[in-house]
Amino acid sequence: MTLDSVALLSKLETDLSHTTAKIYRPDSVEFNEIAQCFIHKPVRTPAVVRPRTADDVASVMQFCLRNKAGFTVRSGGYDCAARTRVDGALVIDMRDMNQVTVSEDKGSATVGGGILHGDLARALGEEGLATPVGNVASLGYTGWSTLGGYGPLSSGYGLGVDQILGAKTVNARGEIQTASEELLVGIRGGGGSLGIITELTIKVYPLDKVRDDINGRTGVDSLLTRRYYSSQMLSSIILYESSNLEGTITTYNQHYEHLLATQELSDCLQLQPTITQIPKMGTVFGVMLTWHGENKEEGYAWIESFAKAGTCVMKATQETTLAEVLKERDNLVTWPSYGRLVTLNLRQLTERTIAVLARHCPNAPGVGFIFSFKPRHKIRSLRLELEINTAIPESCLANERLEWGSRIKADLEVEDTDNILESSYIALGSHEVNLKRVYGQHYSTLMTLKEKYDPDNIFKHTVPRLAPVGVGRRTLEV
Ligand SMILES: Cc1cc2nc3c(=O)[nH]c(=O)nc-3n(C[C@H](O)[C@H](O)[C@H](O)COP(=O)(O)OP(=O)(O)OC[C@H]3O[C@@H](n4cnc5c(N)ncnc54)[C@H](O)[C@@H]3O)c2cc1C
Repeated sequence: MTLDSVALLSKLETDLSHTTAKIYRPDSVEFNEIAQCFIHKPVRTPAVVRPRTADDVASVMQFCLRNKAGFTVRSGGYDCAARTRVDGALVIDMRDMNQVTVSEDKGSATVGGGILHGDLARALGEEGLATPVGNVASLGYTGWSTLGGYGPLSSGYGLGVDQILGAKTVNARGEIQTASEELLVGIRGGGGSLGIITELTIKVYPLDKVRDDINGRTGVDSLLTRRYYSSQMLSSIILYESSNLEGTITTYNQHYEHLLATQELSDCLQLQPTITQIPKMGTVFGVMLTWHGENKEEGYAWIESFAKAGTCVMKATQETTLAEVLKERDNLVTWPSYGRLVTLNLRQLTERTIAVLARHCPNAPGVGFIFSFKPRHKIRSLRLELEINTAIPESCLANERLEWGSRIKADLEVEDTDNILESSYIALGSHEVNLKRVYGQHYSTLMTLKEKYDPDNIFKHTVPRLAPVGVGRRTLEV
């Protein structure tokens, strides 16, 4: 027997009164802002609870278990379909758990389960350190890293998931536990499907070491060098003349493929080609580029090289910090947006794919980013991710935009069938995605861990959504 929302809220306030967790009632002034996710999804939520410590999280979990209350866990709120918003479910918002503690040897840091990328980049930068982060300051680190996680440093240092050394979780019995090596295997890729992650221990890199790795040199250890590097990252936006969109993308791609084939692309370079609709300019192809190497001249040379990958109509480059790059990219994201993102993994940008994109892009309903490609030259096995931005700030165009994005996806599947990879990035996939394909050989490992660590599927509103065998009747309904 479950309690109705009002009774649940009143019991929650009593039961958590001994904790430091903050409870936001639906009638409180801050509620709408606190409960908002990037994708707008109106649901009935009994309350948002913001724990500050692992003990708080354990108390909330025990409350949910005792009262058979459904719950979701959120950090940044960027899930591509707002799957942390579930009708009737309590929201456990981890954003107040945002501490960053660097180890004495400065080789790792322990971060709170709700830390956001901008705060992490800034805190580490102040210590002369860095770690791969996503592209947007307000994106949550735990959701990002446990489901993969790429960003400006990924070509040099790998994905977010590669950085995870340890974790603490609150398990399906509401107990705090240090993740065993076995559980860590599941956390690296399985998101929050095995427990609420209260902290992660991650690899961090001294900025002077970044310099050594890049240039193959050692022994550069002066404070001056650290300061020099930490304030010196290059960030550039290049736009190309795009009246013939197909021709523009083709020329850019030939340039990129040539560099890839000759193995000349630097690990310090991160590229994010995009197609955008810009008021008064129309549909424009461009690339967002970052360079995180110490040798600025080399970085500028790469920017020049890519400026020549088409007829450049705009090039804006600045020397900045990683935290600033993320902050600026935050400004490109509008909260709330409506719809959802659609993603497709491709082998490469073929002539057929380019033709489909060029045919559809000028007709996109709404403005803003239309496509973003994530080529990962260092992490070659990941190929190319095509992110179709079907989430837009104009709610009245949301359905039209989603239909438009789905048409492109369908056309690509028909017209360039062999170029489509079977799996897609789990963070940007839907609940309908085939998890066996996404996880491949690791699927059975993840399911075995789910059976062991969450046999009753207490963590059911998660990405990925895993259902242990035979859980059916035992599953607690929201
Ligand atoms: C505009 C936009 C930009 C993006 N940019 C990038 C990018 O640059 N690189 C990239 O790799 N991906 C990117 N993504 C995808 C993004 O990384 C994933 O959607 C990620 O899961 C978002 O994490 P979040 O904490 O912000 O979101 P949330 O919606 O808060 O959480 C996402 C998932 O993580 C779970 N979760 C969060 N915190 C915890 C916790 N402490 N314990 C257990 N589970 C938890 C949630 O339950 C949920 O299932 C982007 C998505 C959007 C919409």
